[in-house]
Amino acid sequence: MNTIGLDAIPFNRPHLSPRELDYLAEAVRGGSTSGDGPFTRRATALLQEMTGAGQVLLTTSCTHALEMSAILLDLRPGDEVIMPSFTFVSTANAYALRGAVPVFVDCRPDTLNLDERLVEAAVTERTRAIVAVHYAGVACAMEVLCEVAGRHGLALIEDNAHGLGGSYRGRPLGSFGRMAAQSFHATKNVQCGEGGALLVNDLDLAARAEIVREKGTDRSRFFRGQVDKYRWVGIGSSYLPSDVLAAQLTAQLEAFDGIQARRHEVWRTYHEELADWAAAHGVSQPAVPEGCLHPAHLYYLLLPDLENRQGLMAHLRDNGVQAAFHYQPLHIAPAGARYGRVAEGGCPVTEQVADRLLRLPVYADLDEAGLTRVIDAVRAYGMS
Ligand SMILES: *Cc1c(COP(=O)(O)O)cnc(C)c1O
Repeated sequence: MNTIGLDAIPFNRPHLSPRELDYLAEAVRGGSTSGDGPFTRRATALLQEMTGAGQVLLTTSCTHALEMSAILLDLRPGDEVIMPSFTFVSTANAYALRGAVPVFVDCRPDTLNLDERLVEAAVTERTRAIVAVHYAGVACAMEVLCEVAGRHGLALIEDNAHGLGGSYRGRPLGSFGRMAAQSFHATKNVQCGEGGALLVNDLDLAARAEIVREKGTDRSRFFRGQVDKYRWVGIGSSYLPSDVLAAQLTAQLEAFDGIQARRHEVWRTYHEELADWAAAHGVSQPAVPEGCLHPAHLYYLLLPDLENRQGLMAHLRDNGVQAAFHYQPLHIAPAGARYGRVAEGGCPVTEQVADRLLRLPVYADLDEAGLTRVIDAVRAYGMS
């Protein structure tokens, strides 16, 4: 309970899109509730249109799409994968599962993305891949990362969990890497509770990608009538989602423009209405470099220090507003230290940002009254 007696404004609330319940009922009534049914095909086609990816495979999560990418790269124990320390655990865990070693590189202080100036120094003869995470859906410096990856013969993978609908210099995020992973977790812009997709841009991997998703079998080819029985042909797992979840996702994707329009309004309103307050109190707002169109996935403030971040978060809670901090650095997490290693020079920016960052509620159903309450509550915080 908060002191103002109003319902708390949650940090996130999934939007219910117009056709969602109808599609869910249709999927259940239609009886084809396992994977690769009619809604899986519809959601896949919509994603293909949005991202321009050569092949789109719906998966049970972004985590699983990343695991698929690790299998498809044939990573061996001891291979190294360069990635930011400032990211979700799945970015690292997916590769550690194959025995590969995550090598953690610091982030840029402005976008909080992998600092492209530090990547090449982290390359060794064991390096096999670079994972770019577009934090908040603001693109990494893709021309630099593509160039370094190309010169050293490394696979570039995009963890595009935040970035659906974002672009860099006119090109959709998710279309730069050999593969990219999307998330449709309940906390993402478009969601089906738990879900994801693997985008495969290197079509040499396409045939195997289907097999990896189908428990290591050529079942997808069998269903297309290309083989007369399906067999175990490689390693894989059960990464294909139910058509029921694909039905929910289809409805969400069809509502994408409307969801995005409101999220952008919320994001812009925070950015404009908090600019003076931020400047007066040594608070940084998100930076969006030229050429980056972001999908308004999250809005964050960088407070001067941990004490004020905790202070503002508690103050907002007392005023009925749920705010959230974000990633705790992977290089100093227990498993990060066990399975990975930190690049030379460490990750000082990541450690600072993890203490200072606070995310404000951003979702399509946040109305004007709610938005005003959040902004007023932030402005009323007495910085210590
Ligand atoms: C949400 C998220 C994931 C994991 O997504 P799931 O679909 O929940 O597995 C991975 N990486 C990043 C950057 C994320 O934000």
